[in-house]
Amino acid sequence: MLSLTDFKTDVDLKQFCTIRIGGKAKYLYEADNLDSLYQAYTVCKSHNIKYRIIGLGANLIFDDLGFNGAIIVNRANKIVKRNCSLYIDSGTTIGEIVNFCFKHGLSGLESLAGIPSTMGGAVINNLGANACEIGEFVNYVICLDSNGKTIKLNKKQCNFAYRNSLFKQGNFIILKVKLTLFYNEKEYIKQAISSNINKKITTQPLNQPSAGSVFKRGEIIPSLEIDKLGLKGLKIGGAMISTKHAGFIVNIGNATCNDVKKLIDNINTKIKNKLNTSLNLEIEFVEY
Ligand SMILES: Cc1cc2nc3c(=O)[nH]c(=O)nc-3n(C[C@H](O)[C@H](O)[C@H](O)COP(=O)(O)OP(=O)(O)OC[C@H]3O[C@@H](n4cnc5c(N)ncnc54)[C@H](O)[C@@H]3O)c2cc1C
Repeated sequence: MLSLTDFKTDVDLKQFCTIRIGGKAKYLYEADNLDSLYQAYTVCKSHNIKYRIIGLGANLIFDDLGFNGAIIVNRANKIVKRNCSLYIDSGTTIGEIVNFCFKHGLSGLESLAGIPSTMGGAVINNLGANACEIGEFVNYVICLDSNGKTIKLNKKQCNFAYRNSLFKQGNFIILKVKLTLFYNEKEYIKQAISSNINKKITTQPLNQPSAGSVFKRGEIIPSLEIDKLGLKGLKIGGAMISTKHAGFIVNIGNATCNDVKKLIDNINTKIKNKLNTSLNLEIEFVEY
């Protein structure tokens, strides 16, 4: 049985998010399977410690002060295949799933190749690219609700929308997801994966730490407007608006959460002055 002594203490959070920003977590546990994920959650509940489940930290910016509770890193990554359906542990990465699909000639997720995400993070954000969203393929999601009860929600109940789902509103822990895909020629799948990855390499600053697109698309396309304002390359501290893709903020060295927040405020003020509208955040700040 897991106990609090199995958790690491005072762990630097920079290594647990793709933008490499953040102070220290008071406690941190890396769960290799769903059983240990559940046990880590019960340890936090029984000690009344606030907790946060994370995947690859590809959509997160941790506070400079760190996290005054327990970060549970989800690495549960089992995939079971039955015909065209996959039963996927929530810590499985999109990369692992796309590779598995290619191996078995299963198609549908090629557009998502190259995006850093776990299955859990993907359903929460309804991960999407090139007119494809993960929600289209979800059959059901098994999760813990806010009372710690295991529930099964079908696709309709998940309320998938653009970068949104039911799971963003409540306090859920995603455990398993059933996706239903379709068979296709392996050669087709291979070409589609490689062309999507190449497109990302060409258009996004993948060689620099970031948390992906900072803003959601709305009435306007944020990256286009930020570019038109001539803001590419604008720096505050170690945070910079990418010179390759104006929708990304990159960490060019020792950026802080505060640098990123100031850069976002700067962008928002200029957008407000020019277009009298404000941008909605796609990235998520995790408070101390
Ligand atoms: C270079 C780059 C490119 C990107 N491109 C795209 C793109 O094309 N399309 C797109 O949609 N996104 C994109 N993103 C954003 C990111 O990939 C997605 O938001 C992704 O779904 C995050 O997944 P994650 O597992 O890392 O979640 P995390 O960032 O670790 O967590 C995100 C949120 O989900 C919660 N969470 C995670 N797992 C669980 C769980 N099992 N149970 C309960 N809560 C959980 C966390 O607490 C947090 O609130 C990009 C990011 C980067 C860095």
